Amino acid sequence: MKNAIISLFMLTLATLLTAQNVAPQKEVFTPIRLGEVKPQGWIKTQMRQDLRGFTGNLEYLVPDLIQKDEIYGKDRLTHKVKSKDVGALGDPGDWNVQFLWWNSETQSNWRDGFVRQAFLSGDKAAQKRAKAYIESILATQDADGYLGVYAPDLRYKLTGENGELWAKATLFRVLLGYYEMTNDPKTWQALLKAVDNVLLNYPIHQSSPFKAQKPFAGLSHGLVFTDVLDRLYQLTQDRKYLEYAVFLYEDYSKNAVSEPDIQLDNILNASYQMQGHGVHSYEHLRPLTLAYWSTGNAQFKQALDVYLQRVQKLTTPSGGPIGDEWITQPRADATETGYEYCSIHELLHSYAVLLQKSGDPAFAEQIERTFFNAAQGARHPEKSGIAYLKTDNSYAMTGTKNGAGDPKQTRYKYSPAHQDAAVCCVPNAGRIAPYYVQSMWMKDADGLVANLLGPCQLDTDLGAKHVRIVEKTEYPYQNSFSFSITTQSAFVLKIRKPTWAQGITCNQAHQTENGYLKIAVPMGKTELNLTFETAVMAHTFAEKEHYFSYGALIYAHPIAATEELGKSFPIKGFYDWKYRPIKANTYRYIADHQAKFEEASIQIVAKNEQTQALETIRLIPLAKTILRQLSF
Ligand SMILES: [Zn+2]
Repeated sequence: MKNAIISLFMLTLATLLTAQNVAPQKEVFTPIRLGEVKPQGWIKTQMRQDLRGFTGNLEYLVPDLIQKDEIYGKDRLTHKVKSKDVGALGDPGDWNVQFLWWNSETQSNWRDGFVRQAFLSGDKAAQKRAKAYIESILATQDADGYLGVYAPDLRYKLTGENGELWAKATLFRVLLGYYEMTNDPKTWQALLKAVDNVLLNYPIHQSSPFKAQKPFAGLSHGLVFTDVLDRLYQLTQDRKYLEYAVFLYEDYSKNAVSEPDIQLDNILNASYQMQGHGVHSYEHLRPLTLAYWSTGNAQFKQALDVYLQRVQKLTTPSGGPIGDEWITQPRADATETGYEYCSIHELLHSYAVLLQKSGDPAFAEQIERTFFNAAQGARHPEKSGIAYLKTDNSYAMTGTKNGAGDPKQTRYKYSPAHQDAAVCCVPNAGRIAPYYVQSMWMKDADGLVANLLGPCQLDTDLGAKHVRIVEKTEYPYQNSFSFSITTQSAFVLKIRKPTWAQGITCNQAHQTENGYLKIAVPMGKTELNLTFETAVMAHTFAEKEHYFSYGALIYAHPIAATEELGKSFPIKGFYDWKYRPIKANTYRYIADHQAKFEEASIQIVAKNEQTQALETIRLIPLAKTILRQLSF
């Protein structure tokens, strides 16, 4: 009897283990090497403009934070440094000490965007600057491999808030990008050595990098060191990087940190409300994603599903996630939810990782929604500047949210730097397009997959055979594409079919399968012409509001505004800009809205809330708006 019970117990245990399926999960798509997809059309034009604008000039716009602080070099932090200008609002000497690492984020996130844009858009002068920078940063590496912001007296020894892993994560993403685009062996060796230095000094399972007294933002940002580990694994196939990533997530989950949203116990607690600093909460999706795919652990999978549902509720119609800057509401609101440019970028990056690993085209749709609407809609349509914070319904951009609320708020305006708040969003505004471009194409077992659509050129190899695909389109401003394909071997091409596509016109034989068009491409040259047919769609949001889309774009009613020149900068032509509405007209949705698409705009009939009259109004893409009403 006893033996029978033991056998039953063993059987149950075995069943449970099998049910948990504890084995690394297969990643559905293989990422394409950075630089193999180059932007064309409007994306390239925008990158070139940004290189002449805020991305190309940030080091001159805020020289104190970049040029005058060699934080990875001669100005590394030691116990002697008590304060530093980090370009942020705050009481000097009071909480500045928490942020001594801050310029490393500003510098490296900025350079990550700058270096990627320089090579992707083919700007030779910017490439020269990028190369000089890489050489200067590699020169700061110590003999043991250390690359970072701390002098020997502090490195790996800090017991309080610190930026050890975060300063490295941001810098190593730059080095990875540069290496992938140039194949420079010196950068590659330096990077491998620098990562090994971390693995040696924070040994796996024998140290606790996230254990700290009074932990704060830098320590918790450090969890995305997993970005570097994920890519290094993809490039080397060495599982030590994945094992270390899982160790970091587990260590993060069990320590008292300032950003607890992603901790396993909190996700699995059904009554937990997300409360973090938005940008942290959205970037932390990636370490959890990686932890699940690296292990196949069922609890991580459950946590990932719960977390994604929570994030979905925090997202506005444009794809902007709550982050003003903390998550203080359980659900997004089109007028009240402010979102930070950093959060837009981090969420997009997280969805790109999820798309690559899961193969679920729903993530591609989220990325397009976020990039084409929230991200483009938080840029100034003509001048070089972005909104640090933005709302979908944007009724004033005078510093405060919709012209009201906290009078000390400065982030709701357009600036090429936002130095009076923090220089975090402008660097990330330079990163978002390169990260979009990098994920446009991926590989699978059969061939190539166009996951994110838009004008670009792909040059890659399938096995030893070269493939070039030139994708010509104005997408998402219109929905027709021509793909000119030149290939040395036959392959299967998959093109994502957006869920809003009601019909397809294609000159090549194709099948539709799991959200993709599947086309057998023969060796040689093929011209593929494709159009997605669609119509205006009216959506309900938060049960009481409505908004309109056509294709991948969301449309809004532009509000005429007066322009006010703000702060000027050390270089000519760069300013902060503020906007006030000329007339406070708002509109309400009516069921008989008679929406129609005409001349790149949507016309609807809506009720003027001031006069109660029915009027025909014209809605335009968010990318072309400053003040606007998106939901009715
Ligand atoms: Zn920011």
